[in-house]
Amino acid sequence: MGKSAAMSSATAPTESWPWPPAMRASAAWHVAALGAGVLVPGAWPWAIGAIVLNHALITGAGLTPRSNLLGPNVTRLPEAAAARREVAITIDDGPEPEVTPRVLDLLDAHGQRATFFCIAERVLAHPELSREIVARGHSIQNHTAQHRHNFSFLGPRGFASEIARAQDILTEVTGQRPTCFRAPAGLRNPFLEPVLHRLGLSLVSWTRRGFDTREGDPAKVMARLARNLQARDILLLHDGNAARTAEGQPVLLEVLPLLLERLRADGLRAVTLSEGMKP
Ligand SMILES: [Zn+2]
Repeated sequence: MGKSAAMSSATAPTESWPWPPAMRASAAWHVAALGAGVLVPGAWPWAIGAIVLNHALITGAGLTPRSNLLGPNVTRLPEAAAARREVAITIDDGPEPEVTPRVLDLLDAHGQRATFFCIAERVLAHPELSREIVARGHSIQNHTAQHRHNFSFLGPRGFASEIARAQDILTEVTGQRPTCFRAPAGLRNPFLEPVLHRLGLSLVSWTRRGFDTREGDPAKVMARLARNLQARDILLLHDGNAARTAEGQPVLLEVLPLLLERLRADGLRAVTLSEGMKP
């Protein structure tokens, strides 16, 4: 997929984005509503209402991180991962010098791997730590250059600069070009998919998340992650922006040992996304 995206962007830079069916339906809906508004006497209020409703649905899809209405969105590993008993632990918003090195030690102690969706400017600030993540067998993927809070309101140019700049920084620092992208808080709009397509990136969200940037109780975070835990799951945790426990610890450091123990008990193996996404 990366290859075909690279080839098509080489031949025709502005081209042929394969519109997701929902976006094609939305375009057809606009044409039908406008046509009715023009042709049918008194239909304008209905036509405008139909278009407003359509925009509300698109906005709703953008605010729903696991939705695939706006384009392909990986929420679980492929079926082949079930036979391999694989899950993917994804850890966002780092690297974070106070937390990430201890996360690496915990993963090593259990012989498990993870994927870090890093903020590229933090990678630039901590290049040695970033290289250590990769050297210890984990994967770093694209979580934008700055993790802007208004990310989901950006247009094509804003998306392109945040994401392409992150690709360049991450590739330069770690020596590996990311193939996966995750939007800040999972929020997006219809302009994102063509940019990802052009850069050869797959949008990856998650099967379950612990809400560990807000919830400081490790038991609650763990309960959310472990509900129906099974092979193919993609789990979301945070080393950057982590909520604190009552004792002031980043909550990930208390949840991760519980999760790794549970994986061991269930005979599950945590692998990087690139490994788990193999067909
Ligand atoms: Zn994030």
